[in-house]
Formats: sequence, C-alpha cells, structure tokens
Amino acid sequence: MEKNKFYITTPIYYVNDRPHIGHAYTTVIADVLARYNRFKIGSDKVWFLTGTDEHGAKVAQSAEAEGKEPQAFVDEISEEYKNKWEKLNISYDDFIRTTEARHETVVKEILTKLKSAKTPQGKDVIFKDTYEGLYCVGCEAYKKEEDLEDGKCPDHGKAPETLSEENWYFRLSDYTDELKQKIESDEIKILPADKKKEVLSFIAQGLEDIAISRANVDWGIPVPFDKEQTIYVWVDALINYISAIGYPDDEKFKKFWPANVHLLAKDILKFHCIIWPAMLLAAEIEQPKELFVHGYFTLSGKKMSKTLGNVIDPDELVEEYGADAARYLIISQFVFGQDGNVKVDEFPIKYNADLANGIGNLASRVLSMAEKYCEGKVPDKKFDADLDLKKIWQKIDKGFSDYKIFENLKEIWEVIRWSDTYIDETKPWVLGKESKQEELDQIIYNLLEILRHLGWLIKPILPETSDEILKRLGESESDCSYSDAIAVGKIKSGTKVEKGEALFARK
Ligand SMILES: [Zn+2]
Repeated sequence: MEKNKFYITTPIYYVNDRPHIGHAYTTVIADVLARYNRFKIGSDKVWFLTGTDEHGAKVAQSAEAEGKEPQAFVDEISEEYKNKWEKLNISYDDFIRTTEARHETVVKEILTKLKSAKTPQGKDVIFKDTYEGLYCVGCEAYKKEEDLEDGKCPDHGKAPETLSEENWYFRLSDYTDELKQKIESDEIKILPADKKKEVLSFIAQGLEDIAISRANVDWGIPVPFDKEQTIYVWVDALINYISAIGYPDDEKFKKFWPANVHLLAKDILKFHCIIWPAMLLAAEIEQPKELFVHGYFTLSGKKMSKTLGNVIDPDELVEEYGADAARYLIISQFVFGQDGNVKVDEFPIKYNADLANGIGNLASRVLSMAEKYCEGKVPDKKFDADLDLKKIWQKIDKGFSDYKIFENLKEIWEVIRWSDTYIDETKPWVLGKESKQEELDQIIYNLLEILRHLGWLIKPILPETSDEILKRLGESESDCSYSDAIAVGKIKSGTKVEKGEALFARK
C-alpha cells in the first residue's frame, strides 16, 4: 500500500569542505519540496533529513593540518553547516552526523547482516581480498587508468597513489543483472532520464566488486568482525538514510522508509544509484522510491574553486539579500537537474526585477489600493478575473512532484506579471476618480484574492514573505487547510487588510 508520507534527503555533506553555495543549492531545493509537502499533506507526514559525513582519511588529514583532533574538527564544521542552514531557514527535521552513536550502531548492524548474507548466485556478499590499485585520497576511491587525465584524477588534479591492501569486499558484480532490471523498469527510479541512461551505461560496462573497508584509516567505524579494519567512508555515509530514522525497529523507520527521494549531485551518482541500491538488495531492505540527480553549476561562467577564490558562502548572500531572497536567487537560475550557470553578478538585477519590483511591488500596489479605495477591507464580491487559479495549482502540484522547481517559479511569477498587467489595464485610479465603486470593488477583490493565492504559492520558496503577505491579508496557517488555501474565492469579504512596509527594499 502506498504510504501517504514524504521522506526527502540531501546527501550528507563531507566536512572536508566548508559549506558553500553548492551545498546550499541542494539543501534549499530539498527544503522547498519538504515545505510544499508539509503544506499539502501535513507536517507529521513529512521527514526532511540532512547532515554531515564525518569519517575518512581526508578528514583526519584536514584536522591534522589545522592542528586539531578529528572529533573537534568535525564538531566545528558540522556546527558551521547547521548555522548556515538556520540562516537560510532550512526546515530540516533531523540532522544526522556519521560520528553519532545512533549511526555507528546501525552501520555495524548492516555490516554484520551483509557478512552472513549470500548473493543471488549463492556466494558470500562480503569477502576478503587483496587489491592493488590507484587510490585518490581526494575522492577516497580507487581509480582506473582510463579515469585519469594525464595520470591525474580529473576532479582533484593530483596523481593517485598506488595502494595495496587486504580489505573486505562487497560482491557488487553479482548484482549486475538485478540492478539493471530494476533500474530499467523504474523499480529503482533514477531521474532525470539522461542520468538513468548514464547509470545503465556504467552497469553495461560491467560492475566490479568494491572494497568496503580500509586497513590503515583510523578515523572511521571499526568493522565489527575485524578490528584491524575500518569501514570505508562511502559505505558508512550511505547508511545515514536509514540510521537517522532508526533502522530497523523505530516507528519512524516503519513510517518513513522507503525514502521518497534522495537528492544528489552527479559526482556521487555511482555511489547512490549503484552501490547503495546493491547494498540494500543484499541486506534485503526496500529501495528508495526515487533518486534525483542534479548537475553542476558555474558561477558567472567560471568553475567554482578555492584557487579562483569565487567560492560563495551562503551567509554572504543572506546578509546581502535576506534569507528569502538568497533562497530565491540560488534556485531560480536554471532548470533543476541540468548543468547551469549561476549569474552571481546579475543577482542585484534579478533581485530587483523579481522580488522588489515583482512580488514586493505587487503586494504593495494591491494593498494600498485596498486601503485607498475600499477602506482597507476585502470588498463583498465574487472572484471573476480571467485567471485560472485552479489550473495553476494543478500545474504547481505536478511540478513539485516532478522536481520542476525552476518551471514552478516561472509559473508563479507569471501570475505576478498577469496581475501587474491586470492593474495597468483596468486602471483603478481612473475608476477612483470617476467614483465607479462597484467596478473598483470587483477589481480590488480579484487582486486581493490573487495576492492571497500568491501568498500560498510562494510559501515553500519564500517562507517569511509568504507569512507576511498572508498576515496582511488576515489569513493564517493555523486556521487554513491546504484545500482552503488553494480554493478560489476563499478570501473573506469584510476582512481587514493592511499595507505594511515594503517586502523587499530595492538594491
Ligand atoms: Zn580524486
């Protein structure tokens, strides 16, 4: 039976990186989807998980470079993530850290379970073997010769080290057919379609067994059946999606698993779309329903990098524009799922056009006309504007379930443009001079009702602005269900409205 719930995850962010606009991008998108679903199906049916990935050789190295103990180092950085998410109004329900006991317990439990499991071909899922290969510390992964550019890891620009170790292995190769079949049939649904194709082509090249433990990395979770080894950081990290909700017995796990969607960027596609599903198959745990893979972006046409010095701290955006506007500017740049360019140098233009002169100006126009022409009250009329709000909500609903965040923003801003044109064409100020009160009442009623809808439409994206608009219209979330919110003509005649201050100061 389909459970009426929504469980969404971001990847857990690696503490070796300080939080930047790239992390903020995925996290804001997840927040928008979580907020929309809370609005639609109720807060108790939604679970939004994010967190930090805190183990591995690279973390230990970074801690050492800063002269810190690994635990002190990861405490500090995970706190940084939490602070930044708070400033961006990220409404996560839980923040998992892979150094927490609740996580380590589940990781060990899964490893123990895999140790006694058999593959579909009847072999041991986990076995010990020696492997010699090229290891990139940056990726924390073995690389094949053909993955390198001029002998260097293309992502890290460093030559990998030759490493020979006896490790525990996961017999990934035995899951080739099952994974292929489940991904092809969308039983494991990978979105968008080009990413599904990419995963299937990896599988078609043949899957190799993978090391799941390391011998000389202390900063990790010990392998429960081999104290000499620690669990490979990637395997440890992936398990967060179930450890955080209390696998296997917690009510939360029973209620929310399988996840409705894991959001991820394409650099971690193989881990999420091949290794994670295979681990779940081997451990006989249900698969997540969907995996949505988004692209990379450039900043004003340039790759984001520490060397270029163009890494953007989300705090800077919040300080400059406020939380709502920062959220909007980050996610309004290009279609979610594709690669794109974030035009940072045009942020002030976009801010003025869409927020200050867009939603902000419309709200102020409509509310001041209500004050001027209708004594600050909702006139006694029925909605008769030529705008199909019902259809707009249907599109928005479909859009959010198809991850069409960018298209939904367009759709909402189209309503703003429609309303501006409506005002320009009906010219309430002329009707005011001519004292055509009936016509004025009708127009102002229509505009107030549209503004009420806009208040709800922007709720997942601009939560503070939404609250403010709805408050000025005398509407509050506590006495308004989703079906009331989206119904047409629900604004109550006689309700007092107030103009208030500008929602977005012009830059
Ligand atoms: Zn690398």
